[in-house]
Amino acid sequence: MTTVTIRRGDGGPVTLDAAALDNLKSGLRGRLLVAGDDGYDKARTIWNAMIDRRPALVVHCEGVSDIQRAVNFARTHALLTSVKGGGHNIAGSAICDGGLLIDLSGMRAVRIDPLARVAHVEPGATLGDFDCEAQAFGLATPLGINSTTGVAGLTLGAGFGWFSRKHGMTIDNLLAVDVITADGRFVRATAKENADLFWAIRGGSGNFGVVTRFEFQLHPLGPEVLSGLVVYPLKEAASALKQYRQYAKQLGEETTVWTVLRKAPPLPFLPSEVHGTEIIAFALFHAGNPDAGRKAIEPVRHFGTPIGEHIGVQPYRLWQQAFDPLLTPGARNYWKSHNFTDLSDEAIDITIKYVSKLPSPHCEIFFGMIGGATMRPAPDATAYSHRNAQYVCNVHGRWETAAEDQKCIEWARGFFRDTAPHATGGVYVNFLTEDESDRIKAAYGPNFDRLAVIKKRYDPQNLFRMNQNIKPV
Ligand SMILES: Cc1cc2nc3c(=O)[nH]c(=O)nc-3n(C[C@H](O)[C@H](O)[C@H](O)COP(=O)(O)OP(=O)(O)OC[C@H]3O[C@@H](n4cnc5c(N)ncnc54)[C@H](O)[C@@H]3O)c2cc1C
Repeated sequence: MTTVTIRRGDGGPVTLDAAALDNLKSGLRGRLLVAGDDGYDKARTIWNAMIDRRPALVVHCEGVSDIQRAVNFARTHALLTSVKGGGHNIAGSAICDGGLLIDLSGMRAVRIDPLARVAHVEPGATLGDFDCEAQAFGLATPLGINSTTGVAGLTLGAGFGWFSRKHGMTIDNLLAVDVITADGRFVRATAKENADLFWAIRGGSGNFGVVTRFEFQLHPLGPEVLSGLVVYPLKEAASALKQYRQYAKQLGEETTVWTVLRKAPPLPFLPSEVHGTEIIAFALFHAGNPDAGRKAIEPVRHFGTPIGEHIGVQPYRLWQQAFDPLLTPGARNYWKSHNFTDLSDEAIDITIKYVSKLPSPHCEIFFGMIGGATMRPAPDATAYSHRNAQYVCNVHGRWETAAEDQKCIEWARGFFRDTAPHATGGVYVNFLTEDESDRIKAAYGPNFDRLAVIKKRYDPQNLFRMNQNIKPV
């Protein structure tokens, strides 16, 4: 290899000579890539097309030894370093400009122990990989709602999905992690072993090292579950949302109902004349017996006069992919997110106002219902502290061309600003965009100071800074 000029963590350039690069390369099972190499563009491309960065070096890892080698190399040369799992993070923190990218996306193994009901997961696995293996045994753990999301980043930020109300956040089901820390050590963390690190990893995002293996508790689920959609026109949204917030208060933990307001996609169960018009959709999921589920979701079918519904018993794996077509990679995306403990009349009115002026047909506002088991742990039991959140709201600006950037971003910011007085002030760290460094403290909440102390213990030089960063104190 020839020399490479690369950015250091402090921003300055450093030139790495051929001997150093050859030494790194020769010890890898995976590949060392530079611009122009086959696989380089794939490695630097992530879900959000707004992020277009060019690392100087990519270590495409095949195993833990590659990760350890990359971390040691990055620390020795004090390089700007980023870590990529599934590449979904909206802020694009997985990719650094001009630095070293540790690409884990090739490490996707998921091993299920059906007797112990435990999953061992490599850090490049997607939710789809996980569900495929776990559902072969009728098992699952709470993960997100889009099958191409990475298990790693989702878990490190806390994670929630369709059956979090029953079994908690993803981190509440995490049993152990293997980590390569900034000093290149292999460390196992559990509730008993390196407990400070295990506490910090459960919501402290990628600040504390590279996780090389996740171990999750599994629960029986499905494989067939009751799930589906009920859709109303926007003119019924205010009434439907007011009924929804009452309904949510007495809902059992096996049932989850999210709501999304957007333009109707061309779904086959919707009449063609409503395609492209503004709607409110309720997405229903029941984690238990389907007959009990039908009773539990019945009120949602009577919030107004539905323009369409599609409810049935279907494989959980398929439900986990149901929203993939609306969330394909390659679009431009900008998010703003709030946590809510309840939906006030004002928040409902503002939501409807913003949905009446969607700047692109792909934009949407959703309220993901959590609550239930996610609220049981104390706020300081894990780094994730937002145990009061009933709803995670995300205004999802999504569009196709750079020419639309400004109007879509302004729309999302406007909704965020206007609804802020009705929200908790807390935010889910995994929904922060790259321009929200002023909200990092709000994301870690009262646990921020403790996280900063643990950061100093495990990463005193802030090698892992490409994340919603906690500076070591
Ligand atoms: C379409 C879509 C749907 C989503 N739905 C949900 C949802 O339902 N529920 C939910 O909770 N979240 C959801 N999210 C948010 C998601 O949890 C975050 O985007 C998360 O960061 C994705 O993880 P990733 O591995 O794909 O991300 P990446 O972009 O690869 O990584 C994000 C960050 O995590 C860190 N990281 C990744 N892997 C490691 C590792 N092995 N060790 C140390 N640090 C690491 C790095 O700091 C990296 O910058 C969704 C995101 C998208 C885009």
